Amino acid sequence: MNLGTEQNPLKVAIVGAGPSGFYASEALIRSDLSVEIDLIERLPSPYGLVRSGVAPDHPKLKQAIQVYDKIASNNPELNYIGNVTVGRDITVDELRNSHHAVIFTCGAETDRKLGIPGEDLAGSHTATEFVAWYNGHPDYRDRTFDLSHENAVVIGQGNVAADVSRILSKTVDELKNTDITQHTLDVLAESKIKNVYVIGRRGPAQAKFTSKELKEFGELADCDAIVDKNELELNEASKAELAEKSNAGSKKVYDLFAGYAERVPSGKSRRCHFQFLRSPVEILGSNRIEKVVIEHNQLSGEAFKQSARGTGERYELDTGILFRSIGYRGIPMPGVPFHDSWGVFPNENGRITENDSVVPQMYTAGWIKRGPTGIIGTNRACAVETVKSLIADVSQLYNGSPKTGRDGIYPLLDERKVRHINYSDWKKIDEAEVERGSVKDKPREKITSVEEMISIIS
Ligand code: NAP
Repeated sequence: MNLGTEQNPLKVAIVGAGPSGFYASEALIRSDLSVEIDLIERLPSPYGLVRSGVAPDHPKLKQAIQVYDKIASNNPELNYIGNVTVGRDITVDELRNSHHAVIFTCGAETDRKLGIPGEDLAGSHTATEFVAWYNGHPDYRDRTFDLSHENAVVIGQGNVAADVSRILSKTVDELKNTDITQHTLDVLAESKIKNVYVIGRRGPAQAKFTSKELKEFGELADCDAIVDKNELELNEASKAELAEKSNAGSKKVYDLFAGYAERVPSGKSRRCHFQFLRSPVEILGSNRIEKVVIEHNQLSGEAFKQSARGTGERYELDTGILFRSIGYRGIPMPGVPFHDSWGVFPNENGRITENDSVVPQMYTAGWIKRGPTGIIGTNRACAVETVKSLIADVSQLYNGSPKTGRDGIYPLLDERKVRHINYSDWKKIDEAEVERGSVKDKPREKITSVEEMISIIS
C-alpha cells in the first residue's frame, strides 16, 4: 500500500509551532498526499516568535497569527500538542518510531555571544531576554531589568536592536494599548533612561535595520533620533555598496540617518543615538555593569565584504544596562545532529544530514535550518522547500510496517504525566487573555505562567 493514501496516511511530527511549523503543516496539507500531522510545541501557547518575538507595537506583523489559527482550526488532519518538550518529555527516537517523518522547526532560541570580558555582569543582557520578557514568554517572566540609570546601550543594528531601542525610547502612553505585558509597563513607567546608544560595529551603509523600522524613530512622542553628521562619511567601498540597485534598502536607511543628522533636536526627554564604527571591548563594574569600554573601528575589504577592525582608540561610556542584540543562534536538541559553529541543524534542502549523509526521516525548516535571517514570510518558502524534499522521499519513508502516529505518543506522555494540551485548550487560554486585555483597552493581557494557563483549562 502506498504511503500518503487515505488508508495509509503520511504521519509527520513537527517540532515547534512557530511560523515555520505552521507553514510546513500548510504545505503538507496542500500536497496531494493524505497526511496526519502532530504539531508539537513546548509551551502551551503556539505561534513562536510571532507571539514572543514580534514587538507589541507592531500589531500588523502579528496578523500572521490569524493565518496560523485558520490552518489549525480548519484542518482536522492537523493536531496540536502543546506543553510538550521534545528531548525531555518524548525523545526524537520515539517520534521517529511513531511517525514516518519528523520536521524540526524549533527556531533559534539563544543569542550569539560578544566574547568580551564582563559580558556576564549583572545588567548586561541579551536582547532575547528583554524581548521575551516584554512579550510575556513564561521562561522570562521573572527577569529584572534595571532602568534606573540615564544611559542604556544596545549593541547591534538589526531589527531586533531596533525593537529593543524603540521599547526603551517610547512613553508608556505609546505602549499601554498594545499587548505588552503589564509587568513591562510597570517597569517602563519608572524608567529614568534619557539616552539610548545604538551601536554598530560597521558603518551607516551596513546597518541591518529596514527603513520602515528606522523611520519610526523619527516619529516617537518623547524621543529624538540623533545621528552625528560626521559619522555619515563613507569610504569608497561603502559608496559603491549604496550605489548598487539591489541594495536600495540600505540606501533608504542611510538617507534616514542623514535626515536625522540634519534635524535640530526638539528637546524631547529622551534621545536615541545611532552610532557607527564602534565595538564594545570590555564591560566594567564591581557587581554590575557600570561602564562599557568602546573602541572605534575602521572598515577594510571590498564592497559588500567589508569588515570592522579596531583602531585602538577607546573611550568609556557610563551605563546601567546593556543589551547584546547581535543575532540569534540555534541550540542543540538531543538526538539531532547540530552544526556547532553555525548554530543550525545541518541539512540539504531541509533533509537533515550528519557527516554529509542524509539522516532518514529527519527534516528541518526555519531559523534552525538556515540561520536567524529573514522576515516571517521568508519561513513559508523555506518550509515549502523542506516539504518538497520530504514528499520526494515518500517512497523511502515506508517499509511496509505501519506507524502509530499520535496514538503511539499520547500513551507515552500520559505515562510520564505530561500535561499536554490541544488546540481547543489553547483557544480557551487565548479567550482568557483577550478578556483580561479588554478591561485595559489592550488586545490581550498575556498569561505568563504555564501553571496559570493550565489552571484555566483544567
Ligand atoms: P541581524 O539583522 O542579523 O542584525 C545583527 C546585528 O548585530 C548586525 O548589525 C550585526 O552587524 C551585529 N553584530 C553581529 N555580531 C556582532 C559582534 N560580534 N559585535 C557587534 N555587532 C555584531 O539580526 P537581528 O536583529 O537579530 O534580526 C534577526 C532577523 O529577524 C533579521 O532578518 C531581522 O530583519 C528579522 N526581524 C525583523 C523584524 C521586523 O520585520 N520588524 C523585527 C525583528 C527581527 P554586522 O552587519 O557587522 O554583522
